[in-house]
Amino acid sequence: MTSTNADFFGHPVGLRTLFLTEMWERMSYYGMRALLVLYMTGAVTTANAGLGMSQLEAQAIYGIYVGMVYFLAVPGGWLADNLLGHQRAVFYGAVIIALGHLTLAVPIESGLFFGLGLVAIGTGLLKSNISTIVGKLYAQDDPRRDAGFTIFYMSINIGSVIGFLVCGYLGEKIGWHWGFGAAGVGMLLGVVQYTRTREWLGDAGREPNDMPQAKRSALARWASIVGVAAAVLVILFGTGVIDVKASVFAENFAYFLTTIAGLYFLYLYAFAGLDAAERKNVLLLFLLFVAAAAFWSGFDQSGGSLNLFARDFTDLNFLGYDMPVSWVQFFNPIYVVIFAPMFAAFWAWLGRRNLDPSLPLKFALGLFFMGMSFLVMLLAVGVALESAPIGLQWLLITYLLQTWGELALSPIGLSAFSRYSPKRYVGQMFGLWFLASAIGGVLAGLLGGEATDGGLSSMSPIFSYMVKYYLGIALVLVVLAYFFRERSKESR
Ligand code: GLN
Repeated sequence: MTSTNADFFGHPVGLRTLFLTEMWERMSYYGMRALLVLYMTGAVTTANAGLGMSQLEAQAIYGIYVGMVYFLAVPGGWLADNLLGHQRAVFYGAVIIALGHLTLAVPIESGLFFGLGLVAIGTGLLKSNISTIVGKLYAQDDPRRDAGFTIFYMSINIGSVIGFLVCGYLGEKIGWHWGFGAAGVGMLLGVVQYTRTREWLGDAGREPNDMPQAKRSALARWASIVGVAAAVLVILFGTGVIDVKASVFAENFAYFLTTIAGLYFLYLYAFAGLDAAERKNVLLLFLLFVAAAAFWSGFDQSGGSLNLFARDFTDLNFLGYDMPVSWVQFFNPIYVVIFAPMFAAFWAWLGRRNLDPSLPLKFALGLFFMGMSFLVMLLAVGVALESAPIGLQWLLITYLLQTWGELALSPIGLSAFSRYSPKRYVGQMFGLWFLASAIGGVLAGLLGGEATDGGLSSMSPIFSYMVKYYLGIALVLVVLAYFFRERSKESR
């Protein structure tokens, strides 16, 4: 069967394969992630014993984990492009993710490091490559491409709703490792489903780039050397031979990621032999990159500081039932499913009137909503300081604002990076987009740790710093949007 003659909501049937695979992958990712900080900071003495870590250390580990997941999309994309092909990369990725969650399901403390490591490696192989295959399902000029990505974005959010519900319930009400195991079972269902329907993808992403066999073998040798060196490092860290505090590692990891991204943009701008128009595009993408990294540093607080705020200072009793803490997070994906079509229709409506905002303006809007969401949290902290626990509505409004921000930035950023990247660099630029998520993730861990370290009183200064920083970047974007106005008009 080819990928274009059957139907999935009027799209190539291969989209169904990718939709369900991504749904199960995100179910496992968000389901486990919702529990992670709760497990690490949970008291060791309770029946469902946690690891009793400090906020700073636990959230630093959370930040390193989220950062690694997205950072590894860069080598994962390279491996698929040059050696594996995207379809194989997704398969190996899914299997490794499942093994990672199942490792976490074993109730031993040392399983944490290796389990998280495996999930990060697997997600590096799966996450960006599955999006690449989505793009490859469509011919270059197929008008259904954007709608295809919108449907795909839905699978992400349906998956995370299931993850929060199932893993959250099992992990908090039965035992942490049951929740992690459920994430593993979810990913295994994804593996079965992918294997059974992979033929629907046809040739999309089946083979890596064309190149002489000798060159491919040379690349494979280099990749193996780097892989072995990385594995040795991981084992040295995992067994404690190299002993670094997580918060120190997280800080250096943030510098490392920022330096790589900065050097890459510098290379593209100054040394990649681009013409003036392409260089202007690179500047535009750099601007979007900075904004996206800042945005994710707030967004990823959902698994960190906001998760703890829900646990420690929010009344989670709903009609007599004590809700699992992680259930609060499923409002983000539910809001996405509700509001994504409205946002798409709104942009289209503005577009028809020639009022569609430029990319920097949309990103500014994203950061504005993120800033507002932490302003709401500042008020919530104020109320909680008077009398905690406070009502659930505070977090619900916070997540609503963050979701509006996400919809103004995330789906649009992905297509901007494919549209404005210099032609020869499109694949790598996709990786760069995920590098913004990586930086945001690590910053989220560092900021979240500082925010929760001293309970409610340490939240106010950090949250107000975040509000200023998001609104400040939004303002700079509005000013700079003026300079990119011409270019955005061309894109309509
Ligand atoms: N929520 C989206 C996803 O899970 C985007 C996350 C991100 O890029 N940081 O795919």
